[in-house]
Amino acid sequence: MTSRLHRARRNDILLIASLVFLALVGILLSLFLRRDGAYCVITKNGEEVGRFSLSADREITYYEEDGVGFNTVRIENGRVSVTAASCPDKICVRSRAIRYHGETVVCLPHGLVVTVYGDEEGPDIIV
Ligand SMILES: [Zn+2]
Repeated sequence: MTSRLHRARRNDILLIASLVFLALVGILLSLFLRRDGAYCVITKNGEEVGRFSLSADREITYYEEDGVGFNTVRIENGRVSVTAASCPDKICVRSRAIRYHGETVVCLPHGLVVTVYGDEEGPDIIV
C-alpha cells in the first residue's frame, strides 16, 4: 500500500520535473533565438500608418478621427513604447518598451498596434 503510494508520488515528481525542464528549455530557446528589432511598424485599425527605424530617436503622436484621442509613440535607444495616450485603460502606456522582433504594444481602444521587426523582413524602411 505505502509502496504504491510512493511510486505514484515519484511519478508525479518525475512528471512535474520534466514539465519544469521543458518550460526552462522553451524559455532558453526563445531567449537564444530572439532577434534584435531593426524597425517598427505602427498600424491603426489594421492599416499601416508609420514605419520607423529603431536606430533614430523620435516621437510621433497619432490622433483619433475626433482629433482629441491620441497615442504618443516614442522611439528611444532602440526601443519603442507608447508614452502617452488618451485611452481609458492605459494598457498601452503601462506596457514596457519593446525592442525584439515580433514584440508588440497594443492599444485596443484606439486600434493601434506597434510591432517590432528584425531587419530581414524590411528592405524598404521609410525613415
Ligand atoms: Zn491605450
